[in-house]
Amino acid sequence: MMNSFRLTTLLSLVTSSSLALAGGPLVLEGSNGNTPVTYQDPNITIHAEAGPLGSLNNAQANTLMREAFDLWNSVDTATINLALNEGLIDVDIDIDNFLFFLPDPNGSESKADDGRNPTVYDDDGKIIDAFFGDLASDSTIGFAASFFSANGDFFIEGYAVINGKDLGLTSTEFKLLVAHEIGHLIGMDHSQANIDNNETDFGSPFICSTDSLDSYPVMYPFVCRDEETLHADDISAISALYPAANFATSFGIIEGRFVDENGGAILGANIWAENTTTGDVVSIVSDYLLQGTGFYQLHLTPGTYTLHANSINPLFNGGSSIGPYSLSLTDASFIAPHPITEVTLQAEVAGAEMISVIASQTVTLNLSVTGNSVELEEISGGGSGGGTISGLVSLILLSLLAAGRRFNTNKN
Ligand SMILES: [Zn+2]
Repeated sequence: MMNSFRLTTLLSLVTSSSLALAGGPLVLEGSNGNTPVTYQDPNITIHAEAGPLGSLNNAQANTLMREAFDLWNSVDTATINLALNEGLIDVDIDIDNFLFFLPDPNGSESKADDGRNPTVYDDDGKIIDAFFGDLASDSTIGFAASFFSANGDFFIEGYAVINGKDLGLTSTEFKLLVAHEIGHLIGMDHSQANIDNNETDFGSPFICSTDSLDSYPVMYPFVCRDEETLHADDISAISALYPAANFATSFGIIEGRFVDENGGAILGANIWAENTTTGDVVSIVSDYLLQGTGFYQLHLTPGTYTLHANSINPLFNGGSSIGPYSLSLTDASFIAPHPITEVTLQAEVAGAEMISVIASQTVTLNLSVTGNSVELEEISGGGSGGGTISGLVSLILLSLLAAGRRFNTNKN
C-alpha cells in the first residue's frame, strides 16, 4: 500500500544541465558545466502568497515559513539569509491563477524574471497534480525549483510549492518540508549520509526505519527527520555552497578520489565521514563535480573521523536523485561496479584509519574500493562535463516525498 508514496517523476524540463550531487550542489553549470550554481546575492526574499495552508491560516503558514528559513539562516558558517515578504503577492494562489506566478508545467513560460520568488500554499494539492499528474498530491508534499541561464553561474529566480492537503504531517515535518524545499531552491541536492541504502518503500527496512530519526538529514529524499534542527550534513553542505568568511577557518577537508582496484574512477558512489566522538556524518557523491576522476570533498568540523563509501539507494532516482549520476537507473550510480560492498578505510598501522581533521587543513586520501588508501598520479584540470546546453533557461525540479512511521498509517 505504500508504493504510491514514492514518486519518480522528474519533469522533462531538465534537458541540459546536470542534476548533481549528496550533501552537495544541486545544479552544475557555468562555462564548463562544473560550477555549482548558487544565488549570487545570498540575501534572498521569498514571496508568500495570501491564502491558507491546509489547517494553517495565512499568518500561521507564514510563521512556519520563517521558522524553516531560520534553520538555514542560523548557520553561522554560511552567508545565506532568507527573508519572507508578505504583500507583494496579495492573492490566494490556486489552480485557477497559478500560471500567473509559476512556470507552465509544460515549460513554455518560465516567469523567471518577474521579480518574485513565490511560495505557493497548494491548499488542495491541485497545483502539484497539475505538475506531476493526477493523485500526485497524495504522496508529493512539495517541490521547488530555480531557474538559471545556460552556462551561467547563478540562479535567477525560484519558487516553491507546499502541499496543504491533510496528509498527516506533524508541524515539525511541515517545517522540515519547507526547509527541504527551500534547500533545493537555493541549490542544495538530496543527501544519503550514512543511512542504510537498502531502505525501501515496499518492504524492509522500510523508509525512515533507522532508530534515531535525527540521523536523517533534512535533505534526505523522504521526510524522516523529527527534530527541528539541521543535520551536520546539511550544515556542511549549505556552508560549502554559501561560505561565510569563517568557513575555511571553521572546517577542515578530507578529499581525494574514490577508485577501483586498478585506480579507475568510481563515479556516483556515496562517500561519508563519521566523527568518532560526536557521530556527526557528512557525505558527498564521488565525482560530484563531473570531472570523471571520482573526486570527492568533505567539509568537516575539526575532530577525528572514519571514512566510508557505499552505493546510492536505487530508490533514489528521478525526482529523488542523489548526485549527478542517479537520474535514471541506467546512470552510473546504479550500474557496475555498483552496487559495491560498503567500504571503510582500513590502515596497515593500527589507528591510522582514524583521520584527524584540523581547521583550515586538507587531508588528501584516495580511497580504494578495497578499503585501502592508494597513491595516484595527479590529474590535472577537470573534465569538461556538462554536455550540450540547448535551452536558454533551464529548470530543475525535485520533489519531496512523505513516507515513514507516522505517515504510513494514512490513506493509500
Ligand atoms: Zn527533495
